[in-house]
Amino acid sequence: MSEWQFRIAVKRAGPLLRCNFLIYSAFIFVFFTKSANNLDKTFSCPNLLFTVLSQIIFSFLNKVIEQYDKELSMPISKFFILIVIFIFNFVIPVNTSYATSVNDTIPNNILMYHRFDEIKYPSTNIRKEQLVSHLTYLKDQGFKFILVKNLLFPDKLQEKSISITIDDAYLSFYEVGLPVFEKFEVPVTLFLNTENIGGQNYMSWGQLKDALNRGVDIQNHTHSHSSLPTLSELEIANEIEKSQKLILENLGIAPNLFAYPFGENSSTAQKVVSQYFDAAFGQHSGAFSINQKYFIPRFPLNENYGSTDRIKDASSVLPFNNVDIQPSNPYQIEPITRYVLDFQEDASNINCFISDFQGSFNQTTTNLSSKLLIELNRLPVKGRLRFNCTKVNNGIFWFGYQYLIN
Ligand SMILES: [Zn+2]
Repeated sequence: MSEWQFRIAVKRAGPLLRCNFLIYSAFIFVFFTKSANNLDKTFSCPNLLFTVLSQIIFSFLNKVIEQYDKELSMPISKFFILIVIFIFNFVIPVNTSYATSVNDTIPNNILMYHRFDEIKYPSTNIRKEQLVSHLTYLKDQGFKFILVKNLLFPDKLQEKSISITIDDAYLSFYEVGLPVFEKFEVPVTLFLNTENIGGQNYMSWGQLKDALNRGVDIQNHTHSHSSLPTLSELEIANEIEKSQKLILENLGIAPNLFAYPFGENSSTAQKVVSQYFDAAFGQHSGAFSINQKYFIPRFPLNENYGSTDRIKDASSVLPFNNVDIQPSNPYQIEPITRYVLDFQEDASNINCFISDFQGSFNQTTTNLSSKLLIELNRLPVKGRLRFNCTKVNNGIFWFGYQYLIN
């Protein structure tokens, strides 16, 4: 290209380049909406900082080029700046994660309880004095108590919070748990399986209505409390529709959240559930992250796992930016030994603890940049297979996942 051809090309591009104020605004708008909607921490402060810096460099560059060629200085320097902004905002964040956004350092985790003071069932029960000590600890530590439904709105997560959920609507929640939560002024969400209502040791519709009037948020936990991975799409839809109908008829509300019975999930279940609800919850430990909206972890607390250390971890651990786990279907008909976790950040300091009903696994872990390739030393047995991966770096980051092996 000769010099005059270059000059003509730059002049033609002139009007377009003069619109760069609009282009900057569009970029900034995209970052704000992207980070607000997805809690996507890669589009945050550093990018805005680069944009501002680019403006300063632009003015400087423009002055320098002007000394040599007044006509070309504006278009060339503007073009250069647009390239810089493009690289910083769209190319670099793909490969780099910045742990600088406010959400990275604020825990917004979820706790799960079932029974209260029913000492016959230690794996699902919490003793009243344990519950009191949990709530006292959380209050003392300055946690804000919010309903799980608020976790779907990132603007409500600007301070450290804890959300409390209760599954199954046992009578002991109404008689023992609820008065304690009220005393501590803690709002709670109850996930309800409708078939058992009014049965022995379960709440009645009248008690549920009363709980609703006292501020309990009531959500869906199927009708029959069957494990969903073994059901067909139609059967899952029937479970949901039947329970939604009963809840609407008896309580006058239409739940928008769902908890999988036993925390057991499959790609099929997830697909059906996502057609009815805004989010769905499992029963596996892990820091809350909106990235797995239809399989959100919750920390189970019971007599065996109900110590102060447990509540300390459960309330304070932080989520990784985004984790991709393969295979992604949480239901495995044929058990396998090979798993790949992509943390989308340097994975060399991340440790994974993997266990099933037979105990923990010895595994071979290969670290390839952001990925951990994990080979288990034996096939997982039938039942739940749990992954708990953690990293310590100015706080503990915790990713949890649960498979169901057929
Ligand atoms: Zn349940």
